Amino acid sequence: MGYTNSPLVVYTKLSPNHSGQRTHSIDRITPHCVVGQLSAESICGCFTSPTRQASCNYGIGTDGRVSLCVEEKNRSWCSSSNANDQRAVTIECASDKTEPYAMNSAVYATLIKLCTDICKRNGKKKLLWLGDKEKTLNYSPAADEMVLTVHRWFANKSCPGNWLYARMGELAATVTAALGGVSVSGLQATSLKNLSEAEAVAKVGPLFTENQKESGILACVSMAQFILESGYGTSELAQNANNCFGMKTSLSGNTWPNSAWDGKSVYTKKTQEQNDDGSMVTITADFRKYACVEDSIADHAAYLLGAMNGSKKRYEGLAGCMDYKKAVQIIKDGGYATSHTYVQNLCSIIERWNLAQYNVVSGSTTISGWYRVRKSWQNAASQKGAFHDLTYAKQCADANPGYVVFDPAGKAVYPVTQTSSVPYAVRVSINDLNIRKGPGTNYAKTGQYTGKGVFTIVAESAGAGSKKGWGKLKSGAGWVSLDFCTRVG
Ligand SMILES: [Zn+2]
Repeated sequence: MGYTNSPLVVYTKLSPNHSGQRTHSIDRITPHCVVGQLSAESICGCFTSPTRQASCNYGIGTDGRVSLCVEEKNRSWCSSSNANDQRAVTIECASDKTEPYAMNSAVYATLIKLCTDICKRNGKKKLLWLGDKEKTLNYSPAADEMVLTVHRWFANKSCPGNWLYARMGELAATVTAALGGVSVSGLQATSLKNLSEAEAVAKVGPLFTENQKESGILACVSMAQFILESGYGTSELAQNANNCFGMKTSLSGNTWPNSAWDGKSVYTKKTQEQNDDGSMVTITADFRKYACVEDSIADHAAYLLGAMNGSKKRYEGLAGCMDYKKAVQIIKDGGYATSHTYVQNLCSIIERWNLAQYNVVSGSTTISGWYRVRKSWQNAASQKGAFHDLTYAKQCADANPGYVVFDPAGKAVYPVTQTSSVPYAVRVSINDLNIRKGPGTNYAKTGQYTGKGVFTIVAESAGAGSKKGWGKLKSGAGWVSLDFCTRVG
């Protein structure tokens, strides 16, 4: 099939940065955030120098105009993946410079049009967003299917940013609707309504896992918000949660413009936000109703990570926070909820449904959410109890002298050993003092020993397997047990 270029193009400045004709026919589209509110011309301008070693097929400027940088027949240098760029049309979109790399409505509207046009000219009737990297890369599209991919799967970047990432499902559904097809992706909210709460939680949990693995928000926290808000409330999350869990059939307050989802239902509402100086400002925000659960989750995660209060993050510290109580407190303190019992309510949902089982760290470690009271982390047989609530765990340790509270990762958190002011020098009198990667015997050995001598400790931490705690070596080699160190300065 012959390749063509989009009739939407209003400016062309071809980049020398490409690999010539594609070796694979077009069956993917990869939208990017260009990290700047650039014009269509400026996006081409980024890629005119051969030393830049980068390009894209199309650019969408901040006013929604389209430019051509690399002809569609050629393989652009855009997504950090040869395999992807051989088969993908790549699009750089004008965006904000920081997470969530938001795009304005003109850019997003053009992205929908351009994707629709690319699909049509390449004989595709459906645009698919499968959400999951492995699933997508292993998927063989049918002759009439186009698949969306994202740069973050191929490089350590946020691209296309959490703003657009949250809308990929909506983009796919809207384009597919424009092509006259029927969108099939996603777990439909309505299909959950006949399940019991436990069944709905089990079904939706893995979706949270997938989405929040990407975003760095604890799955259990935002899942608990969904469940909490499905009982009452009129917020966007409550609407989505109610759709997902179906615990209540009607909600008062906001109504959606269309009762049946049409791929573009949006309502605008005004909310009050506080500036840095304490003054209030009215923010007008668009809220969307999603047909499928994945998009609701992704959008909520993007909101929590990207919301701003003046120039500061509204929920600073949330990204990557691994302690659900702390994360819930951050959300409460950011002004998400005013109820005095919000933190308690959310934590009790997490515990009731054991939602912490859905937390995933870097795709591997599962946090179970129990505080364990033991003599040492290794000595599981000594366990006096396991508690979701740290307060009870502390009471148990107080009642049993010599016992320590360990957090779900095995780090000793109570009683806290007295911390000395650092740095200070210690003498090591044995040859084989292990250096570990972290403060505790639950962290791997680095394979190195300090040897005998005097060393400088620059940080202290309580941790499993050492009564006096752990000291961080100034050399950066790792941590050593202070049980084997004598302070000399
Ligand atoms: Zn990119």
